[in-house]
Amino acid sequence: MMQIFVPLNFLGFVYREMKGSMANIEAMFALLRQKATITDIENAPDLQLSEGRIELENISFHYQSERPILNNISFKVGANQKVAIVGSSGAGKSTLLKLLFRFYDASSGRILIDGQDIKHVNQSSLRRALGIVPQDTVLFNQSILENIRYGRIDASDDDVYKAIRMAHLEDFIARLPKGVDTLVGERGLKLSGGEKQRVAIARALLKQSPIMIFDEATSSLDSASERLILEAIRDIAREHTMLVIAHRLSTVVDADHILVLEQGEIIEQGTHTKLLELNGQYAHLWSLQQRERALTSD
Ligand code: ATP
Repeated sequence: MMQIFVPLNFLGFVYREMKGSMANIEAMFALLRQKATITDIENAPDLQLSEGRIELENISFHYQSERPILNNISFKVGANQKVAIVGSSGAGKSTLLKLLFRFYDASSGRILIDGQDIKHVNQSSLRRALGIVPQDTVLFNQSILENIRYGRIDASDDDVYKAIRMAHLEDFIARLPKGVDTLVGERGLKLSGGEKQRVAIARALLKQSPIMIFDEATSSLDSASERLILEAIRDIAREHTMLVIAHRLSTVVDADHILVLEQGEIIEQGTHTKLLELNGQYAHLWSLQQRERALTSD
């Protein structure tokens, strides 16, 4: 899946993006792994964020023309709503995110953010506007404070500490030998998967975007870590529009709307309770995960 090929002019673009904003180092890493297939229309304006509404209208997409990946996907995430996408591996969940960040353009259909077609705004403003908690978080050999500040390098200390609190990192940091100044990364303290995800949450919060996208890591978390992350997501969802790509259904139970994606199509949708009543794929996944939980807690 990873694209090694990075054209030189694209590296130039990435450099300008980084120099210009450093707004989201995570997105930059994702960018480096993508081919530059997309260009802005001439004089494309900035995306104007207001409430943070997302709308997908009849989106279809293929990487290679003989193999459709997404087929006629439509859904809305209203301001301050939490919408979750679940589905088996290969269903097309990450592809949907790639389209939202405009690493690719849909083969047909439109994606609107606050009523603006993402094809009609410039890509830097689009990516700056979306807070993302990626599956894999890159940590640098710097203090935990600096690692978090990568979300927005000109953030005030107050904003950084607020993000730390909202990401439920306070207790963890209080226990570190040098608190926020503790060195982390390859040559410093190794963080667990759950701690890394909370650093990613704090980084994303610093962007102060009304939209937060959470691409849940597939790796399992211990129950204490999972609880902290769930609490952080719940708090953030109160004040943000949230789109969650979920692997653990515990993350989606309280979502306003859940989409079940299989082979590029939405096969079921509704709230957790409605989907359990439907007794289809979601209910099946739920009972599998409940059984697994019971086994691990034994
Ligand atoms: P997972 O839960 O395992 O991350 P997913 O639901 O996110 O899976 P996608 O990564 O969106 O699924 O992949 C959907 C399909 O698209 C898969 O069959 C995958 O092999 C294919 N695919 C993904 N990226 C590319 C690419 N760059 N070129 C060609 N095919 C791709």
